[in-house]
Amino acid sequence: MAHPFTAVPLGFSVMGRDALWWGGCAWDSFALPHLLPEQSPVLVATSCPACDTPHAWHVDDREPPPGDQVAHFLVPTRHMWDDVVHTCGNQRIFCSEQCVTDWLARTGNQRGYVMNLPTLWRLASGWYAGRLERGYVRREPSAAADYLRGVGLSGPFWGLTD
Ligand SMILES: [Zn+2]
Ligand SMILES: [Zn+2]
Repeated sequence: MAHPFTAVPLGFSVMGRDALWWGGCAWDSFALPHLLPEQSPVLVATSCPACDTPHAWHVDDREPPPGDQVAHFLVPTRHMWDDVVHTCGNQRIFCSEQCVTDWLARTGNQRGYVMNLPTLWRLASGWYAGRLERGYVRREPSAAADYLRGVGLSGPFWGLTD
């Protein structure tokens, strides 16, 4: 994996104007049109991990796509790099809160963090800014926290205490 790109299938495909990628996780898939605006809008496709219903959105770099599905992230930020394939493989989009609940009951996983599509889109929009440029430096933790707060996330899952 070279975020937000991945060579292994993790549940998402992303089709641009003239390219097709494995999308990585929900976060990575929604980030691609921001990194590659010339490919935008891209068609992001996946299926619900709980009930296998297919879902697809045209995602661009201007506004969140319509849809009342929810994203569920299983692994809290402090453990995200323990096993990044497991982490990304469990950042998925479900039909609804009910499908998240059903999937957690079936898999025995603890609930992570649920967000709506506009929040996912905002999270993805600037996270990888500059990633394709030479000399890219990962954000400082305090800047990352400011970014996460700014897109509407909160709580210990994200390492945010206020
Ligand atoms: Zn990912
Ligand atoms: Zn479902």
